[in-house]
Amino acid sequence: MTRYTARHLPALPGTAGWNAIIGDYSSADTPLTGDTTADFVVIGAGFAGLSAARRLQQLQPDARVVVLDACRLAESSAGRNSGFMIDLPHDLISEDYAGAGDDMAMTRLNRGAIAFAGAAVEEYGIARNFFDPAGKVNGAASEAAHAQNESYAQHLAHLGEGYEMLDAAAMQALTGSRHYLSGLYTPGTVMLQPAGYIRGLGAGLIRQGVQICENSPVVGFERQGSDWRVRTVQGSVTTPRVILTVNGHLESFGVAKGRLMQLFLFAVMTPELGADELARLGGQPRWGVTPSDPMGTTVRRIDTGQGGNRIITRTVSALRPGLNPAKDLPRAQRVMQQKFEDRFPQLAGMTMQYGWAGHLCLTLNGVAVARQVDDGVYSGCVQNGLGTARGTLTGICAAELACGVQSDITRHFAVEASPRRLPPQPFREIGANAVIRYKEWKARND
Ligand SMILES: Cc1cc2nc3c(=O)[nH]c(=O)nc-3n(C[C@H](O)[C@H](O)[C@H](O)COP(=O)(O)OP(=O)(O)OC[C@H]3O[C@@H](n4cnc5c(N)ncnc54)[C@H](O)[C@@H]3O)c2cc1C
Repeated sequence: MTRYTARHLPALPGTAGWNAIIGDYSSADTPLTGDTTADFVVIGAGFAGLSAARRLQQLQPDARVVVLDACRLAESSAGRNSGFMIDLPHDLISEDYAGAGDDMAMTRLNRGAIAFAGAAVEEYGIARNFFDPAGKVNGAASEAAHAQNESYAQHLAHLGEGYEMLDAAAMQALTGSRHYLSGLYTPGTVMLQPAGYIRGLGAGLIRQGVQICENSPVVGFERQGSDWRVRTVQGSVTTPRVILTVNGHLESFGVAKGRLMQLFLFAVMTPELGADELARLGGQPRWGVTPSDPMGTTVRRIDTGQGGNRIITRTVSALRPGLNPAKDLPRAQRVMQQKFEDRFPQLAGMTMQYGWAGHLCLTLNGVAVARQVDDGVYSGCVQNGLGTARGTLTGICAAELACGVQSDITRHFAVEASPRRLPPQPFREIGANAVIRYKEWKARND
């Protein structure tokens, strides 16, 4: 009998700050208990899982869809990221512009994902402040980073994409920080309050009849005749089709073993800033700055519509194939405190209210795992750093495959290569973390 067993369950240290600052909510649905049946079971209720459920709902409105998550909505990485839903590829790679076709194809797909999310915001009445199409700035704090921004801007011009270069004074007027030499503004990114968006998506799906069971870790699923029996700690669902949208925990179920880079990222969030602190800070009430060097520091300023006047700082990463980054959080918090003070000396000494780790999954060759993995089992996992837009796409892809539907999204993932095999342990972990530390050191000012 074919059986998939979850060898690890999600365990993320620290408080998911984005979720904490918008208050408690009545449970989406109680944990799964007893035995039931469904037309589709979606495992994982992050960006990918909830997008899969919405796409299933669109394609087969009468189908019974059950979504199971080990945590509460927005407590996992979906509520632990920086909330940039980015339309452009992170890295416009092709030096000679030969890759312009690929860049534009990926950009079109990302924009499709943003439109899909935007339609859900409309339909489900999700607060506009949780989905703000404000664009973002790539900040440069060194000459090398500034040069990178200029080359990126050249490529954008070649693609006919809009952008604006900001000088140091404009960056200070925006952020209140003298840290940046320049910035590259691009308009297509949506700034999410990620927990607000995810909770809103969950609530809308429930109203449409989707059953979402929180605190329902799936311990495994096995063949039962032509169906699968999906087991949680307290119950089971028998279904012909299973959708795995569990991020890097795909490997916990034995799929793509030895091929997924289990990366953990960290972030800290200030307490609500008082009037005096806001006066010292200066700048605009709402903005987001990503680093020109991807190993640098992301900073966001949010306001009362998004959970209070606060600053969120994200940097430091660690590869943990054992899926537990708890030991890395204290060092990460110290580093992030320093990065915060480098940018905002006027707020030096401020104690952060929240600090957390979250999970993202990469492959060596940058591909996703969005495909059928067994008869009636589909994966919508692995986002390679752009999990909000890409997660939406991989979720849609898995749902469409499960319904036998083809689209530009399924065709895009169908021709991707398989994930490349990683070096064996312990070399993988030691080698990758040494490279990460070196790259973080090189990007220390960004
Ligand atoms: C600090 C940080 C900053 C980031 N910033 C950004 C950003 O600005 N923009 C961006 O695009 N991406 C960002 N990311 C990445 C992004 O958060 C992830 O890529 C994204 O959450 C992936 O979506 P997902 O739905 O695939 O996975 P997840 O959001 O992780 O959802 C997977 C779900 O599966 C559940 N699960 C796992 N195993 C089981 C099981 N056995 N049973 C039941 N449920 C299970 C988990 O509880 C989880 O809810 C960031 C990540 C971090 C950590």
